[in-house]
Amino acid sequence: MNTEISIIVPVYNEETNVPILYNEITSILKIINKSYEILFINDGSTDGTLNQLQALKKESTTLKIINFTRNFGQTPALMAGFNNASGKILITLDGDLQNDPKDIPILLNKINEGYDLVTGWRKNRKDNLFVRTIPSKIANKLINKMLKTTLHDYGCTLKAYKQEITKDLALYGEMHRFIPAIAVARGAKIAEIIVNHRPRIHGKTKYNLSRTGKVLLDLLFLSFLNTYGTKPIRFFGSLSILSFFGGIVSTLVLIYMKIMLKNDMTGNPLLILSALCFLMSLQLISIGFLGEIEIRTYYESQDKKTYYIKEII
Ligand code: UDP
Ligand code: MG
Repeated sequence: MNTEISIIVPVYNEETNVPILYNEITSILKIINKSYEILFINDGSTDGTLNQLQALKKESTTLKIINFTRNFGQTPALMAGFNNASGKILITLDGDLQNDPKDIPILLNKINEGYDLVTGWRKNRKDNLFVRTIPSKIANKLINKMLKTTLHDYGCTLKAYKQEITKDLALYGEMHRFIPAIAVARGAKIAEIIVNHRPRIHGKTKYNLSRTGKVLLDLLFLSFLNTYGTKPIRFFGSLSILSFFGGIVSTLVLIYMKIMLKNDMTGNPLLILSALCFLMSLQLISIGFLGEIEIRTYYESQDKKTYYIKEII
């Protein structure tokens, strides 16, 4: 039997939320009347989360529990969900009841309109204003600027994906939030819809302000990957050329000062600057060459393509 919908929920210490959420999800899916499965990924919980899931499993044929050996983080948990889901449409949501399963039908409708990915926008977010909501607003603006996208809310886990989109996504660190940007770079059609957001009642949030720093680093790397991922020499090469010309200019000024102004060369800091520029230029171009070799290994050893085909007619 082909499963139509897979629901993916990463959980880390959410013992009180798990049974409530499971019931909310199943009551919505029963109305939709399509074949479904619900995947809970237990990300190394140290409370009774696994016991709760096992109790639910006794009465359920649609529940699948993926139990991690330890806590790996929300991104690996979502990846495990993608890799083990068999549905044609995949839906991810948080396990803390902050996302509302009542939004699932709206997401599905949007997918059926032909979008590859539909992402939620928590327009009326119910989280701490200063620690969460405001930093996240700034981060979203920055992400849009750097990745040339126009979404309002990268942090919302509530999303629906066509199954193809989730294939060969290589996500590291905290990168699950950038899936829409990765999908856009691959040419996917994405839509954003306003979803309900509820305050966290049971359990504690697993994140604080320090996540913003990690997200920024991931962002920096991703924007490099999107622009220069298949041509690193252009990035490092341009910097190398710039540095080389800097070295030339600095050397010319150095010689001019020596001949015309009778300035001692060894006492002139421009000598150090020139040497530095030439050395940096050499190092940058070498890194560029190494990068080029590296991407060839990456693509060719895994038979990966540098393009995505929609269809062959
Ligand atoms: N989560 C997880 N592994 C972690 C951290 C969080 O699986 O290492 C899950 C957590 O149980 C929840 C979701 O990811 O279902 C979002 O976490 P949280 O609610 O703490 O984040 P927030 O909503 O505060 O951004
Ligand atoms: Mg939450």
